[in-house]
Amino acid sequence: MLNIALFGPPGAGKGTQSEYLIRKFKLFYISTGDILRKELAAETKLGLDAKNIIAKGGLVSDEIIVQIIEKTIRSNPDVNGFLFDGFPRTFVQAYILEGLMIKLNTKLDFLISIEVSEEESIKRLLNRGKTSGRLDDNEEVIRNRLKEYNDKTLPVLNFFKERGICVPVNGLQGIEKVTTDIEQIINKEQSKKLLNMVIFGYPGSGRGSLGKAIAEKYNLEFVATGDMLDNEIKDNTEVGKMINELYESGQLVPDEIVIRLLEKKIENSKNVKGFIFKGYPRTLVQSYILDGMLKKHGSSVNKVFEIDVDTLELIRRLDKRSQTDAAMPYDSSTEKIVQRLEEHKTKTIPVIEKYKEMHDVTVIDGQDTFDVVLARLSAEIESSFKNLR
Ligand code: AMP
Repeated sequence: MLNIALFGPPGAGKGTQSEYLIRKFKLFYISTGDILRKELAAETKLGLDAKNIIAKGGLVSDEIIVQIIEKTIRSNPDVNGFLFDGFPRTFVQAYILEGLMIKLNTKLDFLISIEVSEEESIKRLLNRGKTSGRLDDNEEVIRNRLKEYNDKTLPVLNFFKERGICVPVNGLQGIEKVTTDIEQIINKEQSKKLLNMVIFGYPGSGRGSLGKAIAEKYNLEFVATGDMLDNEIKDNTEVGKMINELYESGQLVPDEIVIRLLEKKIENSKNVKGFIFKGYPRTLVQSYILDGMLKKHGSSVNKVFEIDVDTLELIRRLDKRSQTDAAMPYDSSTEKIVQRLEEHKTKTIPVIEKYKEMHDVTVIDGQDTFDVVLARLSAEIESSFKNLR
């Protein structure tokens, strides 16, 4: 989940920014002001209770606000996250928000404070008053709303500053620049929350087909460096031509090339939930590269799996594959199969050992049918997803 509160004096542009943010990040919008105005227009008891206070520019009681928020949150249980506008507006409401987030087993990711001066705020609201039809957009009420803001709402900032989740944005810039600034803050935070998995396993363990299925099931980006190299060759790119020459002279593709392809892939995958790496890292050097690369994007490997299959079964599977259309060039002889198994043992097992020291490596029994192993892996991923939130 991604939960954000937009903060700032009346007229800071919270409503304007919200329109874009809810579309872009698929958030559910909760504006206490909008909800109150709807209640008022429908002349409900709640609306009528709030009417006089709103008309004077005062703050509606915390009891009314908590009811509104609870009801809205409860009727939208499956959303991606919430964008709060005009809430929390008092110290008490800051606690209420924290409590609600705990109840939903989530948290407020940040409070974005759109900063504008008092004069600018008055100027904008008077301007808006010409067309908004809002009973509180006139000079006398505006002054009272700003007084309420200074007295009761500003202390909320300190509450979230202490929690280290308060991010200021200059609200005097053009609308689009403010949006870009907010977007950058959110993207940075999102990348910290990426779910990045590495799936290890001997050739023939099913790591490729499992990785692909998992990526599809959970909407993650599948990164198989082998496929990426093949694609460059197929597309006949400059890099592809280089790789082809290396293949033909029997040399390994140097890490520099793979780094560039991986960088491009990560750069181009802006709105993904995370990556599944298959066939990378294959060596200790590559594992340092991957960790460094993710770090550069504010993220890290946060889940490592090892698909465990008995050696005899691996040989049986690879031998069987060599007789089908799915045969890979490197499946074609017993010598090649043994060489690949050996490569994994000498070069990649030390990488798994390294990750065992850094994280837990979850070993998945891969000896059963594809569907059974997929279910096993999915169950582990679903529990990790929860832990990561
Ligand atoms: P807004 O649309 O956010 O400017 O809100 C308009 C008016 O609704 C405010 O001046 C308050 O009277 C009332 N209101 C909106 N949100 C809250 C809140 N969280 N707490 C108390 N009063 C609120």
